[in-house]
Formats: sequence, C-alpha cells, structure tokens
Amino acid sequence: MSKSSTQHDKAVSEIKSLLPQSCYTDDSDIMVPFLSEWRDRWQGHTPLLLRPESTEHVSQIVKICARHKTPVMAQGGNTGLVGGQTPQGEILISTQRLNKIRSVNADDMSLVCEAGTTLVNAQNAANDIGLKFPLSLASQDACTIGGNLSTNAGGVHVLKYGTAKELCFGVEAVLPNGEIYNGLTALRKDNTGYDLSRLLLGAEGTLGIITAASLKLVAKPKEIVRVMVGLDSPEQALALLNIVRIGNHLAMFELIPRLGMSYVTAHIPNMRDPFNDIHAWYVLLDWEFDIAGQGQDFAQNVLEKAMDAGIFNDAILASNETQAENLLALREHLSASQKPIGGTIKHDITVPVSKTADFIHSANQAVTAHIPDCRPLPFGHLGDGNIHYNIGQPEGMDKAKFMALEPEINEIVYDIVDALGGSISAEHGIGILKKDQLRKRADHAKLTMMKTIKTALDPDCIMNPRLLF
Ligand SMILES: Cc1cc2nc3c(=O)[nH]c(=O)nc-3n(C[C@H](O)[C@H](O)[C@H](O)COP(=O)(O)OP(=O)(O)OC[C@H]3O[C@@H](n4cnc5c(N)ncnc54)[C@H](O)[C@@H]3O)c2cc1C
Repeated sequence: MSKSSTQHDKAVSEIKSLLPQSCYTDDSDIMVPFLSEWRDRWQGHTPLLLRPESTEHVSQIVKICARHKTPVMAQGGNTGLVGGQTPQGEILISTQRLNKIRSVNADDMSLVCEAGTTLVNAQNAANDIGLKFPLSLASQDACTIGGNLSTNAGGVHVLKYGTAKELCFGVEAVLPNGEIYNGLTALRKDNTGYDLSRLLLGAEGTLGIITAASLKLVAKPKEIVRVMVGLDSPEQALALLNIVRIGNHLAMFELIPRLGMSYVTAHIPNMRDPFNDIHAWYVLLDWEFDIAGQGQDFAQNVLEKAMDAGIFNDAILASNETQAENLLALREHLSASQKPIGGTIKHDITVPVSKTADFIHSANQAVTAHIPDCRPLPFGHLGDGNIHYNIGQPEGMDKAKFMALEPEINEIVYDIVDALGGSISAEHGIGILKKDQLRKRADHAKLTMMKTIKTALDPDCIMNPRLLF
C-alpha cells in the first residue's frame, strides 16, 4: 500500500467519525447518479460521497483532507459539460444539502443562498419578493448556484444581464486549508484590495468550495415579447441583431439552424415546427419592457423595419404565455435532440459577435472537407457571440470511429476560433475536456499567473486537482 493511499484512508475514516452518518456514504448504489453525467462521457469513482449540511461541515472535511493531502472534488447539480464534477478517486463533496435561502432583501436587491440551491429555486425566491434573478439555463431545474458561479455560467440572457460572475456580489467559501472566507456582501462598491470572491468565480472549484453566495437581483420586466423569425443565413441574423437591439430591450437572441429544428421536432415528443414553410435558419428573441403595454407596438415597428429591409422571410410573435414557452422549448431541447443521431463532437466557442457568421461558414467548410457527410450544427447565443458548434457523425458511420476523429476536428475548429480572435470556452469552462487546448492556446503569462495563484492558495493541490492545468 502506498504512503498516499494510507493517508487517504486515514482522511476517509477521520471524516466518517466526524460527520453524522446521514452525511456520508460509500454505498455504490447510492453513489451511481453522482458518478455518471449528462453527456455519458465520463464515469467516475470515489472512496466516499459526502453530503455536508453546513459550511462548518465543509470546513472540517477540508481541514482533514488538507492535513492528509487528500484530494477532494465539489459537485453541485452534476450538469457540467466538461468533466469537472466527475471524481476519479477524489473524495466527492456534494452540495446537495446546502440548499437554504438564507435571506432576501428587496431594498438591496440581493439574495443570499447556499451553494446547493438550484438555479430555479433561487429564481423563485427572487420572484417571491417581486424581483428577478436573470441567469437562465436549460439545466436550471438541476444546476446549482455554486456550480453556476464556479463555471461562470452564461445562458440565454447574457447579452442583457451578463454571465453568472456579473450577477454575484460575493461568496462564502471554504479555502484549501479549510478556512472559511466570508465575502457575503451586498455592497455595490468595495475597493479594499484583491477581490477574493471574483477569483473564485469561474475557478471551477480549484481554489475553494463555494458554500453560499450573495446574488444580485434585478427589476422584473413588466412585459416580455417573444418572437421567432425564419431567415436565410447567419449574415441575415446579424443584420437582424443590429435592428432589434435598438432601444436596449433585447434580452435574448438565439440562433437555430434548420437541422436543429428538424432534430427537435423529430426526436422530442410534442414539439412541432411553428412555421408552415421551411427556413434555413431561425432566430428566437425576447424583448423586455419596464412599462407594460409598450411591447406589441415596438415589436410590430421593428419587425416591419427588418422585413422592409429584406432581412427575414417570416416571423411569429408569441400571442400568449403558452406559445412563448413552446417557442423557447424548441431552443432548449436542441442539445437533447442530438442524442439519437449517434456521436457528436461538441464545441462551446465564442468569437466577436461580428465574426459569428464568418466562424460558422469557415468551420462548416473545414469540417465537411475533413469528414464528408458529417453534420455540423451551429446553434446558440449568437447575440453574445457564443456558438455551440456540434458536429454529428455521418449517417451509418461507426460511432467510435467518428469520435476517434475528435482531436483533429478540435484542432480545425479551434484554429478558426483563434484566427477570429475568439475563445475555446465561452461558458462551459475547461474542466478536463479542454485542458490540453488551454495549455496549447492560452496566453503564456496568463497561464503562468494562474498556476502561481493555484500554488499559493492550494500548495498541495487538493481541490479539483485534475482540472484546468
Ligand atoms: C441541458 C443542459 C443545458 C445547459 N445549458 C447551459 C447554458 O446555456 N449555459 C451554461 O453556461 N451552461 C449550460 N449547461 C452546463 C451546466 O448546466 C453549467 O455549467 C452549470 O453552471 C453547472 O452547474 P452544476 O451545479 O450542475 O455544477 P456541476 O456540474 O456539479 O459542477 C460543475 C463544476 O463546478 C464545480 N463546482 C460545483 N459546485 C461547486 C461549489 N459549490 N464550489 C466550487 N466548485 C463547485 C465542480 O467541481 C465542477 O468543476 C447546460 C447543461 C445541460 C445538461
């Protein structure tokens, strides 16, 4: 038995004697859902699954692990897409039971909740006091505030409200030595040196375990108008964006290709194409208004202007909440609808908004030249420059053979992203999936500084040790 495995065994037994029995398990049946993930790409294993019920619990666990140099991994809702929450031998700390809303304050427009609070529960708590927490992801029933902040999640409202980072005043976290950092403020100004909370946001659990967060709320719009538009090209979508963002009401601008619409309507029950005609591309957009009763006239005017300019072929203006939800469902099921087609090589990239059409054309041309008959499916948050660039296997091709081409396809796609001044990860993070690409493509000074920070805060590299680097 190696020295380190003896140390890890000691950590496991010390933790077991510290926590109430209900807070830990090594029962493999109970652990199953924590060790597999949405993409079916990673299968994990852990000596111990922990479900602490307080920040103090997390602190005590981490102190033991720090003493024994035993690696730990944090897991929230387990919806991450880059393998960052699936343990490979680390002790797994689930935040599932850290799920209390600690306080809400309408005057400060703030909400303090524990890290395992699901995004939808945080949204509901804000709604209960007449405000809104505007982060919005298709995974919101399951993903957690701790996971959202650690991955700096994006979603469909980034162009109006920013990413998760911008919606957070500060966090409470357990640092790699077990100390509790309290950054739960509602201050909109606080210039007192380095901002430790912001260092933890987007750090993917490598610098500390977030146990609670103080979130920024916004006023609830009085009226939302949702429209789906059918058009011919990504260039037309960009021209449309230039028109529909006038007036600062635009809160969502999502691109869907025909192939995506056909997968959703074919593979997801109760989904139907809202148009009679077939369009090459679709845009789904939301306008939000602070005063009720402005939306319909505004929408009619702007759409007329865009139609006169020949920018789109057809449009549907949702006339009630059900229709609005049905239109959004078409977008939200895009990822799930691709599962039945077999292997898919996925990218979550961002380029300057003005370069999104260039990216789509260049990437489509390059990947189809490399794998004839593969099925590129670019979709997502065109309004903020973030394209989910998925490539489906050619029909009838062996899935494993197709997936073996992933490294060379990644090089092709990421070279185009680099040439356009983009980033290889827009909102999902690096995890273990993209760390080779980060090493290869990141600015050298940035990478060196990131490693210096990691070593300073976590000298024994116990927190999510396999991620990022
Ligand atoms: C259908 C679907 C749609 C999605 N849509 C979007 C989208 O539009 N935009 C987007 O950005 N993402 C999207 N995602 C990805 C995912 O939902 C987000 O990355 C989300 O923020 C992860 O939250 P989680 O609680 O599930 O975290 P997990 O998956 O549990 O963990 C993700 C990472 O965060 C770390 N972590 C989790 N909790 C903590 C904590 N308390 N402290 C420190 N580290 C922690 C983990 O160690 C891991 O590295 C989608 C996923 C799915 C399945």
